[in-house]
Amino acid sequence: MNNAYIDNAEASILHTYNRYPVVFDRGEGVHLFDTEGKKYLDFAAGIAVQSLGYGHKEYTQALKDQIDKLTHISNLYYTVPMMEAAGKVVKASGLSKVFFTNSGTEAIEGALKAARKYSYEKYGEERYEIIAMNHSFHGRSLGALAVTGNEKYQAPFRPLLPGVRFADYNDLESVKEQITKKTCAIIMETIQGEGGIYPAEEGFLKGVKELCKEHDLLLILDEIQCGMGRTGYMFAWQEYGVEPDIMTCAKAIGCGVPVGAFVLGEKAAEGSLKAGDHGTTYGGNPFVCAAVSKVFDLYEKEHILEHVRTVGGYLTEKLDGLADRYDFLKERRGKGLMQGLQVTGRPVGEIVTRALENGLVIITAGSDVLRFVPPLVITEADVDDMIERLERAFV
Ligand SMILES: *Cc1c(COP(=O)(O)O)cnc(C)c1O
Repeated sequence: MNNAYIDNAEASILHTYNRYPVVFDRGEGVHLFDTEGKKYLDFAAGIAVQSLGYGHKEYTQALKDQIDKLTHISNLYYTVPMMEAAGKVVKASGLSKVFFTNSGTEAIEGALKAARKYSYEKYGEERYEIIAMNHSFHGRSLGALAVTGNEKYQAPFRPLLPGVRFADYNDLESVKEQITKKTCAIIMETIQGEGGIYPAEEGFLKGVKELCKEHDLLLILDEIQCGMGRTGYMFAWQEYGVEPDIMTCAKAIGCGVPVGAFVLGEKAAEGSLKAGDHGTTYGGNPFVCAAVSKVFDLYEKEHILEHVRTVGGYLTEKLDGLADRYDFLKERRGKGLMQGLQVTGRPVGEIVTRALENGLVIITAGSDVLRFVPPLVITEADVDDMIERLERAFV
């Protein structure tokens, strides 16, 4: 039955993804079921989105209630869900103002515009350069792609946004070398995700922050994947104590509805985008904001951060154990429930496919990394189950 659906899809869907041959039908907690009723343990969460697991009753009820009231009205008016969601984002981050978008990519676009506007207001037209990192990922629109340090993704679409210079992640000297009189901002992920799960080193992140202060550059931290509790902190930068001028969010902030945000500290909020500078029809509509608002409530009610610290420690221990036991596993990297195992000498795709056959959903990062970004509500027993299924996929 799965295959008939798949042939159908390939007849009509633009082939921009090499999809795995599974048709998912429904989810329950940390498990997924395909159209044939086969059950899978999920360690991908729809790419770090479904933090609360699938079919969370209080979450789905909040969405249903909001659908019955009002789903969309545009940004020409206020709505209660949007005001509530904004307040919760600001409170959790300690930053100043939020703009809701429909995706992570759009959050990046907004952050880049805000950074340029800040510099334009203060220094005039000629200060527009942005420093981004090699092996970064910020999205696929022409602006977000311009700061995505991946030659393969960029090459067919040039010319991209001008004025982007690339430095090496975790190499402060290389960042210094890219600063010119024209630089206005530095953008990076607090933990590189798609690039292969590389956490920022503390000295690097703090050093970049110092450079930003020294040259009045805006620090944009992309928390789209590593934020929303994944590392055991609501936002990964909070562990480092390095506050960004602008932060981008998406993925888990709505736990499955399409929503993102860029969040500005006071300096960026006061000095950048004003009425008329930026907009969106859907962004922050009452439906998605009811989700965001409920997500923040449930994180608190279910002590998600504390839980991630405990179960994340357990996952770390188990993955380190695997890396010790198997020669082809080079190293484990990551924090909390955002982990990667680097594989050498065999294709990661094969392991992922075999894991699927064993009823385990995992994904890859970069070209050679197994990525573990499960729902944040997994238990230690789920970790054990995952390890067992994964080891069977190694043989
Ligand atoms: C997924 C991701 C994006 C892009 O988000 P979309 O919602 O797919 O547009 C940007 N940055 C990072 C770090 C991401 O992981």
